[in-house]
Amino acid sequence: MEIKITKTQNPMPKPDENNLGFGKYFTDHMFTMDWDTEKGWHDAQIIPYGPIPLSPACNCLHYSQETFEGMKAYRTEDGTVQLFRPEENFKRLNNSNERLSMPLLDEEFALKALKELLKIDADWVPYGDGKSLYIRPFCIATEPSLGAHTSTKYKFIIIMSPSGAYYASGLNPVKIYVETNYVRAVRGGTGYAKTGGNYAASMKAQDIAGEQGFSQVLWLDGVERKYVEEVGAMNVFFVVDGEVITPALQGSILPGITRKSVIDILKHWGVPVSERRIAIEELAQAYKDGKFTEMFGSGTAAVISPVGLLRYGDLDMELSGGKIGELSQKLYDELTGIQWGKRPDPFGWIQKID
Ligand SMILES: *Cc1c(COP(=O)(O)O)cnc(C)c1O
Repeated sequence: MEIKITKTQNPMPKPDENNLGFGKYFTDHMFTMDWDTEKGWHDAQIIPYGPIPLSPACNCLHYSQETFEGMKAYRTEDGTVQLFRPEENFKRLNNSNERLSMPLLDEEFALKALKELLKIDADWVPYGDGKSLYIRPFCIATEPSLGAHTSTKYKFIIIMSPSGAYYASGLNPVKIYVETNYVRAVRGGTGYAKTGGNYAASMKAQDIAGEQGFSQVLWLDGVERKYVEEVGAMNVFFVVDGEVITPALQGSILPGITRKSVIDILKHWGVPVSERRIAIEELAQAYKDGKFTEMFGSGTAAVISPVGLLRYGDLDMELSGGKIGELSQKLYDELTGIQWGKRPDPFGWIQKID
């Protein structure tokens, strides 16, 4: 399929690189493509960034038939722009679309479209340390009908947003508590899909945590409320007795690309790592026994987020002395080193935009 390109006549002034924040500014262009039952995917276009016409009745607004991805473009020291495992994002987008009963994309074409868009808006990739261009591909159901059924029309869109460094002043340990009231997802549900509904379901708990000075909650499984799952928009890792443990993917956890990369790096380093069910009681006991020593989250936005305090009921588990754990720092340095091209890429994860 050909991509029709219409360049903007009014390029926007670039925002101050030292005040980007996250997801507030958007580049000059976006990619859009439509799907309907007759034509399949068609009308692939790169057009000026701006509002899209949508019927107020369209399915995504009422029934959340929607999926998305989150990835970044990084500027290296020599000025080139690169992506980190982007093929994994489009693969996951298709897994999400499959779960939400939405049409699948040609993954290679979607990646090609992103690379075209990146070439056109290349000067929007920030230059400063730790800054990046956040990329948000998403699919929405656009049939103008209130019928609660699978839509007959969809849009696939890619927008891009120059974003500041997640950690303005170095890695920062966060405080998290174990959520025992609300649940995020259940097996058989949509937990493994990147879809807005999962976020809608988790905002209440998130707000309550924020009011109490915690940055996130640690979700337990929705059935037994016994096993740990993940944190907000991050997967989690625990260091117990020298072994790194992360909850196994069993349908209710989002399969993070950073998670997968952390596991690969740990194996490469020869650090023992296992994916399995882990009960919160097991962690609490290990803490009391002095064996649970470090915890961190993993996700595209923060890369690695060290946890300084984990609260479970009235047990406050202080980890790594409330500071950044040794392994957290090492993984952060390695991952960001590969992403920004400061370290070798032994896994072949980087794709350059030329
Ligand atoms: C996106 C996301 C993650 C992290 O995935 P990455 O691919 O590592 O960015 C973890 N949990 C949830 C719920 C997510 O939406």
